[in-house]
Amino acid sequence: MTAQTHLFRCRQDNFGVLVHDPATGATAAIDAPEAGPVEAALKETGWKLTDILVTHHHGDHTGGIAELKERHKCKVTAPRSETAKIPAVDVQIGDNDTVKVGNLSARCIETPGHTLGQINYFFAADKLLFAGDTLFSVGCGRVIEGKPEVMWESLLKLRALPDDTKLYCGHEYTAANIKFAKTIEPDNSALADREKEVLAQLAAGQPTIPSLLGDEKRNNVFLRADMPAIAAAVGLVGKPAAEVFTEIRARKNKF
Ligand code: ZN
Ligand code: FE
Repeated sequence: MTAQTHLFRCRQDNFGVLVHDPATGATAAIDAPEAGPVEAALKETGWKLTDILVTHHHGDHTGGIAELKERHKCKVTAPRSETAKIPAVDVQIGDNDTVKVGNLSARCIETPGHTLGQINYFFAADKLLFAGDTLFSVGCGRVIEGKPEVMWESLLKLRALPDDTKLYCGHEYTAANIKFAKTIEPDNSALADREKEVLAQLAAGQPTIPSLLGDEKRNNVFLRADMPAIAAAVGLVGKPAAEVFTEIRARKNKF
């Protein structure tokens, strides 16, 4: 049986998501921005919380952990190098480790940049990617702890996943990301298509994720820094992709 997911909004602009294994009843929350909305999602689905898989230590991803663990006695899995900053960790994981949620299995992909220890959870059998604040739809996370060239390498790890991978990210930033991406690629038709789709989704009160990784490869400028046209658009013809990425990220910070 395949994984089931339940996506919901929380805090200002965070996404929460539950991943459920119907065979065993196991259910993981990917991050726990705050306890209330996770509880509401559990009530709505009737699922019982067994796990919390933490992507990184920021408070808007960990704020609900202590309360949820207290109530559900669930197991908290988190990046090894960030456990000092994350409450109540039971299992420490690193790059390439495997995490089980019931019979479901996720590979841990470490992507330093936004934070140094950030972990993405990739459920290969169901092609579900939970990318926290590394890769957003049509955007990427701010490079807070790493260097931009390290973040670029991290994004390449995610770009290597199959096109039909469903991307779940930590925030509803898609519309703003599209506005910025258009300043670099005003003529990208895949980006224009995505803008139409996103405006319709938001107008209907729907989330803009999950998106397909294959679409992100065509419309997300941060995954396209090694394309000659992108280098040209930012005045860096012939320069290394990491340098182009660094320039794009710097422009987004000021946008
Ligand atoms: Zn963050
Ligand atoms: Fe965040």
